[in-house]
Amino acid sequence: MTVLKNAFTVDFEDWFQGIELDPATWEACEDRLAVGTLRLLDLLGEANVRATFFILGSAAATAPDLVKEIATKGHEIGSHGYGHEFVYRLGKEAFREDLEKSLEILDRLVSQPVRGYRAPYFSITPGCEWAFDEMAACGLSYDSSVFPVQNYRYGDPLAPRWLHERGSGITELPPSTWRCAGRNIPVAGGAYFRIFPYTLTRFGLLKANSAGHPAVFYIHPWELDPQHPRVPVPRRVAVTHYWNLRATEPRLRRLLADMPFASAAEVIEQVGQFQGPTHLPGPDGSRVGGSGPLTG
Ligand SMILES: [Zn+2]
Repeated sequence: MTVLKNAFTVDFEDWFQGIELDPATWEACEDRLAVGTLRLLDLLGEANVRATFFILGSAAATAPDLVKEIATKGHEIGSHGYGHEFVYRLGKEAFREDLEKSLEILDRLVSQPVRGYRAPYFSITPGCEWAFDEMAACGLSYDSSVFPVQNYRYGDPLAPRWLHERGSGITELPPSTWRCAGRNIPVAGGAYFRIFPYTLTRFGLLKANSAGHPAVFYIHPWELDPQHPRVPVPRRVAVTHYWNLRATEPRLRRLLADMPFASAAEVIEQVGQFQGPTHLPGPDGSRVGGSGPLTG
């Protein structure tokens, strides 16, 4: 019997790039990217897990050797865009420019083809469907940005919870949720991993597996660096960014021991993406034919 693997994904960016600071201030911020990244690479190495790193282009520009090291260790490289801007604010043309700029720098740094994209702040929301056409036009084959939850800055609670075809040649790999009392509870990682008890995350991810689906987990390098600087940010941002950072490393160690993980590309391949779209359900969650080899 094949063991169902789960996607371990990393949004590769420095601590100041995900807290809605003016990019003009980034240069004055302390560069801490290597601290969390090297800890993460050690943890993944100990667990013998190859993950997907969605690389922010502007972070790659300041830490090219770190990106090369990630790729050399066998991890998949994806794009997290270039400037860490909300996709729904960028609009179609600026999104394309941002994506192309990020792919250009990745192309210079790594030899593997880039297949996947994760939007900053999961900011592909209803009305941003044009983004999938732009991804396909840039040669990408999957996206992991549509979070089926309600959050003040992202989410689509009506979006499918499981891997599905978007219809533009793009496969969507949604971050994991646990369906409880008619609501989707985010159990995919990040701040939720630090705020909720560890056992809730594990329970939610295993629930996905017991339903025959891979779970999708995400984390940031700065979440493994509790000593990174504190700056004044809006309270709603501070709560999620700084909460319980010391818990990340021990919890990650447990998680990596508790269930099998692989890169997003490997997980999609496992579910049948590369055998043709008929193996995957459509956007409404209904199967369009075939029976995906989820387990067995
Ligand atoms: Zn990000």
